Parts: sequence; C-alpha cells; structure tokens
Amino acid sequence: MERYPMLEINLKKLYDNTKIVTKLCYDNGIKVAGIIKGFGGIVEGAEEMAKGGCCQIGSSRIEQLRALKERGCDLPLLLVRIPMMCEIEDVVKYSDISLVSEKETLNLLNKEAKKQKKIYGVVLMYDLGDLREGVFLKEELIQLAKYVEYELNYLYLEGIGTNLSCYGSVAPTTENLSRLATAATEIEEILNRKLNIISGGGTTTLPLMVRGGVPKKINHLRIGEGINNTQDLPLYWDTNIEGLDPDVFILKAQIVELNEKPTYPIGQLMVNAFGDLPHYDDRGIRKRAIIALGNQDLGDSSRLVPRDKNMIVLGASSDHTILDIHDCERQYKLGDIVEFNILYQAMLMTGLSNYVHKKTIRY
Ligand SMILES: *Cc1c(COP(=O)(O)O)cnc(C)c1O
Repeated sequence: MERYPMLEINLKKLYDNTKIVTKLCYDNGIKVAGIIKGFGGIVEGAEEMAKGGCCQIGSSRIEQLRALKERGCDLPLLLVRIPMMCEIEDVVKYSDISLVSEKETLNLLNKEAKKQKKIYGVVLMYDLGDLREGVFLKEELIQLAKYVEYELNYLYLEGIGTNLSCYGSVAPTTENLSRLATAATEIEEILNRKLNIISGGGTTTLPLMVRGGVPKKINHLRIGEGINNTQDLPLYWDTNIEGLDPDVFILKAQIVELNEKPTYPIGQLMVNAFGDLPHYDDRGIRKRAIIALGNQDLGDSSRLVPRDKNMIVLGASSDHTILDIHDCERQYKLGDIVEFNILYQAMLMTGLSNYVHKKTIRY
C-alpha cells in the first residue's frame, strides 16, 4: 500500500525541463549548474539534471553533494553556499568548486587542498547590491583574485560570480550584470588568461536572458527552480519558456475527515497555533476536508496549489490542512488522495522532510 503524504517526482519531466533550459542557455552562450537543494538533493533527481545537460551539479549543503560523490557522479560538484570553517575538510573532499567571499576561508581551503593533494576550484563572489554574500568593492575583488592566482597554489580561480534577488530582492539587470562583466574583463587582463566561469546568478536571471538583456561576457548560471519548479516563471516573473512542464513535483495527501462546518470560528479569537491572528471570512456553512499534512511538512500551507481548481486551501496547523471542497465537482470520500502543485518553499520543505514519502516515476 502507498504511504502518504507523498512527494511524487517525475524524472522524465525533470529531464525534459533540464534539456529545454540548458539548450536555451547554451544558445545564449551560458552553461548551467543544476542546483538540487530545492528538492532536498534527492539523488535520482540530481542524476536527471546531470543527464539533461548541466555542466555541474550544485547545492548549498555539502551533505547532498557528498551523497552524489559517493554514487560516482562524474560532473564537477559546486557548493553554492559560502563554506563554513567547520566543514572545510568535507568541502574539499566532496565538492570540486565553491563560491567564496572571504580571504580567510580561501586560506583554509588552500591548506586543506594541499593536505588532500588536490587542486580545488573557487569562484569569488561579487556583491552587486543585493547585500547578501560577496565582496562589495571591485578593487577588493581584483586584489582577492590576484591573491588566489599568485599566492594560493592549491586553489584554482575558476572565475567570479554574483547573487541577486535573494536577500535584497534586487532584480538582475543589464546594468548590474555589466559591472560583473567589467570586473571579469579587468581580472582577465591582469592575470593574462581567461576565466572559466562568470556566473550571473540563479533562476531569477533567466527572465532577463530570455529578453536578451544578459551581457555577453556572462557564461554561467546556477539554476534550480527554473528547471524543477517552473510554475514560478510565469507566476512571479511574467516569463514563459516553451515546453517547460510545471508538474515535476506533485504532493499527495490523504483525507482523514470530511464534514460541513461554519467558516467563521466560534468563540473569542486569540492567536492560532503559530502565534498569528489570521483573517477569517464568514461564508456560511461549507463542505470541508481535512488532510494528514501540515505546516511541519510544508512550511506554510499557502504554498499549496490544489490540482482540483474548485478546491480552496483554508489553512493548516502543524499536522492538519483544512480544505474547502464545497464547490468541487468530485465527491470526495474518506481516504481519498488529494493532489497539489507546490511552490518553491513547499518543495524545499517536503523534499527534506523524513515524514513525507518520496516516490519517483518516469513517464
Ligand atoms: C539556491 C541558490 C541558487 C539556485 O537558486 P534557484 O532559485 O533554485 O535557481 C543559485 N545560487 C546560489 C548562491 C544559491 O544559494
């Protein structure tokens, strides 16, 4: 018997989406690092992204890269969160390249690479205004590049990169990415060689690329969401890439109670299970279903998109999600399975949860 809640991963759709995005990027002179952290690093998924044309596989979690390394993944593995001092040994052992912004971290990586007798790759991060990681001043970035090139014998400067629309929600534009391109050109002139990687961000740079606004010099993007959770492209960025399938991940949960109840809580209202005071609309007595899935699996039930278009997600506590099924054509029964598309946060959380069963399909 199937166990629920279940996260169903369609490997064929993941592969096809990867093909489409890597081809589109290739036509724009851009290689793609396929980022797997959005679905908990599930190895079968990572392997489809590798087969689909990604030049590297990346994650923010070294544990997820380790699992791939140990399965014999032959693509270079990219750590996209700047390394912690406590994980340097694993970083050098289980990844091939990481994004770095601190001189002290570079020194530690160099020392560890020497110990492990390998040459380890680094991409220096340049902050273009989003104010998360990265060197803030171009002069400082150039100094750091020279330092890696000439002083750190066990590191190889793969290139430079940036991160946008994460903390500061700053949009990638031709203007800010041109600053990255200019810095890359200057570094190449000083070092008298080409850089392999000039990494212009993640999925949020795709809409700009599709519109032709990414400077030619940018040759690398780190893409997760734009391959595995593609409904966000039209939803948040008004961008349609032909052929992308939004149904790579489907979340399924089982109905554990069916009833008809009022829509406005009865009694004096205080905060709910999470300390919030939600808004309730009084819509009279409605048919509802409770499913065995909650915010501890999901993060936030508002990230669920019911496949039954007449169903409404009313809210959730830790373990129960309440659905309004009053206007649904289907007559739901106890034990029925309800299906959802999931937005990024819910994919991230259900992908990682040990309480959500994973099933891979291929058709
Ligand atoms: C997560 C991450 C990405 C990929 O983000 P998506 O939105 O999944 O494409 C790229 N770069 C860095 C530094 C990241 O942390």
